[in-house]
Amino acid sequence: MTTASQIKLKPGVVTGKDYQAMVQAAKDGGYTIPAVNIVGTNSINAVLEAARKNKSDVIIQLSNGGAEFFAGKGFPDSFQAKVLGAVSAAQHVHLMAQHYGVCVVLHTDHANKKLVPWVEALLEHGERFYRENGRPLFTSHMLDLSEEPLEENLAECARILKRAAATDVSIEIELGITGGEEDGIGSEDDDLDNPNLYTQPEDVLKAYELLSPLGHFSVAASFGNVHGVYAPGNVKLRPEILKNSQELVQVRHNTSPNPLNLVFHGGSGSEQAKIDEAMRYGVFKMNIDTDLQFAFAHGVGKFVMENPKAFQYQIDPETHTPYKKLYDPRKWLRLGEEGMVARLDEAFTNLKSAGKSLAS
Ligand SMILES: [Zn+2]
Repeated sequence: MTTASQIKLKPGVVTGKDYQAMVQAAKDGGYTIPAVNIVGTNSINAVLEAARKNKSDVIIQLSNGGAEFFAGKGFPDSFQAKVLGAVSAAQHVHLMAQHYGVCVVLHTDHANKKLVPWVEALLEHGERFYRENGRPLFTSHMLDLSEEPLEENLAECARILKRAAATDVSIEIELGITGGEEDGIGSEDDDLDNPNLYTQPEDVLKAYELLSPLGHFSVAASFGNVHGVYAPGNVKLRPEILKNSQELVQVRHNTSPNPLNLVFHGGSGSEQAKIDEAMRYGVFKMNIDTDLQFAFAHGVGKFVMENPKAFQYQIDPETHTPYKKLYDPRKWLRLGEEGMVARLDEAFTNLKSAGKSLAS
């Protein structure tokens, strides 16, 4: 049997069997790979820089809004912008990641029922890319149909996974609803049987039975996690939900431990002990968005506050000092990037992925 440390991959975007090996290596090695939502080349490059610096692999992820922003807010068609922005970002990562010397997973984030056509359009672009290059454009796409009835959620995931698997693409599904800003569900109701806040292991078992014969997939399960950052005490994480789901599948299907590939959404501000516990239960991917938005904004904001005149005058009206070196966007955008890199240093350490890159 090969151990995780023996697997080596070519730097660049990782897909198909290599991605599956990376997921397994993380689960076997007891670490989690950060998945960072990006909105432009500044954030992509900051993620690549931080991954290289920390010798960690990383997941670069686009929400539909991030993809639209990537294409440009002035782009005439919003749906096309969501599609082309994601394709453009993916192409940038395909070109650059190999030269940064790290392994990168390319992912898309939440797509509810209304956004299934977005995922299908990206699959179509991916199929063309696959015919031309012999490899997928995106490693994996997320479908979040957790607001639909379970049967409908799973049937639609099965339909998309069949298509995705034909070109070595994985999918991430969501069972139970992650609370927070995106859908207005908090965690005041602390009832373990509430299927919206806490994914039911029986539902995960159903997903496993339907989807595992079709292709590779991962599961974002709700265990009290909430999108965004809230006052302490608001989030009651119950990672034992993950453990119970893993054990149910393991027992019913006589698999090795942690058969499911689990994803942690809404982890900003979580206690380290709960993160560590989740990692033991097969969480290979943790989404980080809110904390990195703040890190970028904080880096830029600090500079603007320290140099307010440079953002009002090209030349100081009293001292006649030219401010070109300060208002040059490269100066302050770089500080945003550095803010992200510093916060990612923490993430790679907390998730224990630092030094574990499979790239060689
Ligand atoms: Zn999420």
